[in-house]
Amino acid sequence: MTVASILKEKSDRLISVKETDTLSDVARVLTQENIGAVPVLDAAGQMIGIISERDLVRQIAREGAAVLAHPVSSVMTRNVVCCSPDDSIAAMMSMMTSRRFRHLPVRSDGRIVGMISIGDVVKRRVEDAEREAESLREYIVRG
Ligand code: AMP
Repeated sequence: MTVASILKEKSDRLISVKETDTLSDVARVLTQENIGAVPVLDAAGQMIGIISERDLVRQIAREGAAVLAHPVSSVMTRNVVCCSPDDSIAAMMSMMTSRRFRHLPVRSDGRIVGMISIGDVVKRRVEDAEREAESLREYIVRG
């Protein structure tokens, strides 16, 4: 099972924010779209960072609500780790666990083609386990 098989079931609309957007804009996008992290693009549409709800909460805890007026570029993580559509779901789980983040942009031919969250990965693993249990049940019943 690969990242591509998860992406196939998701909308291909890529949600992003601009580096000049404020943290308040980011909070609005995360809430409206019901997501936990979003890639940050420059004026040329290249990904230059990622920002998650965790970054927002930490920054507000450190500096107070005034940070909501600051640009996303002041808080985002610049060194973004990406995966590829051909990567296995097991490799995604181990990458997210060891690096302690819950979101991975998917890069293909130099452009971002989607986002995978830990929720997508867990959902797929549960579906696979249920399918496997069902086939084993059928095998036992049929003899
Ligand atoms: P998360 O668990 O995804 O909310 O993110 C935890 C921290 O890791 C935040 O500081 C994020 O900006 C950062 N982060 C999330 N996803 C990635 C990623 N794919 N590459 C690099 N940093 C990330």
